[in-house]
Amino acid sequence: MTTLLSHGYNLIIFFIISRLMSITGKLRPWNPSNPYEILSFNISSKLSTNSDAIRASSKDFGKIVQEIFPAAVLYPSCVNDIIDLIQFSYGLSVPFHVAARGHGHSIRGQATAQNGVVMEMNSLTNNNNNNNLNNGIRVSRDSSLGFYADVGGEQLWIDVLHATLEHGLAPVSWTDYLYLTVGGTLSNAGISGQTFRHGPQINNIHEMDVITGKGEFVTCSKHMNSELFFAVLGGLGQFGIITRARIVLDKAPTRVKWVRMLYDDFSKFTKDQEHLISTDGLDYVEGSLMMKQSPVNNWRSSFFSPSNQTKISSLLSQNGIIYCLEMVKYYDDHTANTIDEELKKLVKGLNYLPGFMFKKDATYVDFLNRVRRGELELQSKGMWDVPHPWLNLFVPKSSIMDFNAAVFVDIILRQNRPTGPILVYPTSRKKWDERMSAVIPEEETFYCVGLLHSSTGYDDCKILDDQNDEILNFCDKAGLNIKQYLPHYKTKEDWIKHFGKKWNTFQQRKNQFDPKMILSPGQRIFN
Ligand code: FAD
Repeated sequence: MTTLLSHGYNLIIFFIISRLMSITGKLRPWNPSNPYEILSFNISSKLSTNSDAIRASSKDFGKIVQEIFPAAVLYPSCVNDIIDLIQFSYGLSVPFHVAARGHGHSIRGQATAQNGVVMEMNSLTNNNNNNNLNNGIRVSRDSSLGFYADVGGEQLWIDVLHATLEHGLAPVSWTDYLYLTVGGTLSNAGISGQTFRHGPQINNIHEMDVITGKGEFVTCSKHMNSELFFAVLGGLGQFGIITRARIVLDKAPTRVKWVRMLYDDFSKFTKDQEHLISTDGLDYVEGSLMMKQSPVNNWRSSFFSPSNQTKISSLLSQNGIIYCLEMVKYYDDHTANTIDEELKKLVKGLNYLPGFMFKKDATYVDFLNRVRRGELELQSKGMWDVPHPWLNLFVPKSSIMDFNAAVFVDIILRQNRPTGPILVYPTSRKKWDERMSAVIPEEETFYCVGLLHSSTGYDDCKILDDQNDEILNFCDKAGLNIKQYLPHYKTKEDWIKHFGKKWNTFQQRKNQFDPKMILSPGQRIFN
């Protein structure tokens, strides 16, 4: 734990540095024999050592890691501010850490930088002149790439959606929740029910501008500086700061047919999910658990009407646990006449419980932004700003039946306490690019499992975190070969095991692009 004493000491050092920076005048090239020349870079007015700013920048959605304080917060107004800061740190014999903070929706302090500098990326919003981006988002087309959007790394996906829809276009791969930054999700993968079809968000990027841990500004793609391109995608912020991403766009639909079907048999449920992701017709496939101890609707989406909730509750009281398959087909004016017929064909032969299929018709935007309503409702009750001991896993298809029996039916149902949303849906390895840093199981089909718990306080959080440990221990002992998504480990050995055969490449890339281990220390991989 950072003591307030060492925090105060670092504040003093930083205050001195920032004073020096403000008085030493104009920009000059860095002279390695005199690192203090870099202090001339005029970014001191954008640095804050104010204790409120520091506290705000060390918070995240998880609310589990509370006291990892940076020494200062940078509010960059252009890409050069980021370059200056990283070059300055890189030039010091003992560099300080730097972390980009996107929207702070990490769970365990991944966007913090103890005693270093946190960069609030959202201060670039509307200021993205360096990239010549109109409010951080510009839509274009060329003959080889088709339509694409150049987007600042600080931009929220909801803003990308609105800006691209003005052109009748949209990205193809999403997360369930859109108030996350482009830089933040590309540092992980960016997954949702579209992943089986288009791959994760990292698979739908043509090009990026990245500032490396040496402070170099590099444009990279599959064909240009490709080592950096592949390193950064899913790279947990370890290799560079993403300041621009060129995102694949396609024609946007206007509406969706949204269907949920209930199952009392996990084997039938997963068989149908796997069948649906292998056919060509759907745009989104997910699934979730429903348990007798938890409400039928939850913040992730309030899908069921009050009368359907009553019907489902009585099914739950008999079964304890049921599985809900969720699928979506997009449509627009041109396909409005045929969509119902198409949907009928797609669900033909599925083995859900008779009488337990529920349908909705929604706008494309309301569907994509479905989590927001629940978030605002919880915020209004003060229930959003609570600890979130989430656990996200990728489970190979060959292990999913054992996982269901031991984790869902035994560990979680047995505890008989309300849970947050629990997601389980399959995706396909061939839609992921092996050269990227993101880590997935070896099998062709694997399941995304999300245990999205909210806790009522810190004691409760500890109980849920112990349950997470129990699940991880079980998976380890049973040899289920799972991988953590949004990974969190305490030891280097665990990280090496996590990366498996990718570890050597990951380490070499770190040495190449961030040799002084400056970036994203909150991931606790090299620090
Ligand atoms: P932050 O938490 O601010 O940062 C995360 C990491 O990325 C840090 O290490 C940070 O230093 C680094 N980073 C941030 N910006 C940059 C940048 N520009 N360049 C380089 N590194 C950077 N994930 C999914 O895949 N699918 C989902 O459906 C999904 N739903 C979610 C719903 C909620 C309510 C929440 C809280 C999270 C969800 N996530 C989901 C997880 C989310 O994608 C990650 O937590 C992501 O990192 C959050 O983005 P952020 O902008 O808040 O990043």
